[in-house]
Amino acid sequence: MKKILIMMAILSTSWMIQAQNMTKTKVEHEMAPLPYAYDALEKAIDKETMEIHYDRHYRGYFNNFLKAIVGSDLENMTMEEIFANITKYPDGTRNNAGGYFNHAMYWTVMSPDGGGEPTGDLAAAIDKSFGSFDEFKKNFSKAGATQFGSGWAWLSVDADGRLFVSSTANQNNPLMNDCEQKGTPILCMDVWEHAYYLRYQNKRTSYIESFWLVVNWDEVASRYKATK
Ligand code: MN
Repeated sequence: MKKILIMMAILSTSWMIQAQNMTKTKVEHEMAPLPYAYDALEKAIDKETMEIHYDRHYRGYFNNFLKAIVGSDLENMTMEEIFANITKYPDGTRNNAGGYFNHAMYWTVMSPDGGGEPTGDLAAAIDKSFGSFDEFKKNFSKAGATQFGSGWAWLSVDADGRLFVSSTANQNNPLMNDCEQKGTPILCMDVWEHAYYLRYQNKRTSYIESFWLVVNWDEVASRYKATK
């Protein structure tokens, strides 16, 4: 009897360890909460746009991303790993993984208390890479304005630690293995029409000008720091 109990104990312990390992390897996903109210960014983006953007577009990408990965090896991969291998997967996976990740970042790099200019290490890095903050702003704004059709503008850090500005089509991002300019993004701006059309209609450049009023430089700086 004692022997059987010990055997059972050993078996159940090994089961528990297995179960723990399984939980550990499985990457959990959740919709990033919107860190402010829908109307908090009114000086740049209206309430209705934020509500539709977050609650319908973003939720759609998130749900479709979960559908795309369920039951596959993608369930055990981080977003970075998925993007580093994105060419192996169908377009639906690319679009929804990008839509899920890019928007989660977009919500955090904006804030009702945003605007102004970065300080410290990030400001120094921007000066070093672009000459001045104004020159960077011009580059980034242009990347967003000239992205044909739907897409994103990015400020990223390359493998050598240098900052660069780029744009991508659709829901692509600089972490994807087939992206022309690869790096770790620290600031993004959605230039899909759904991000601005209700208030700005076809005037994307007006939306871009207003975007600077809400950029959360503290968040961008902490993302920059995390790349070092
Ligand atoms: Mn969007």
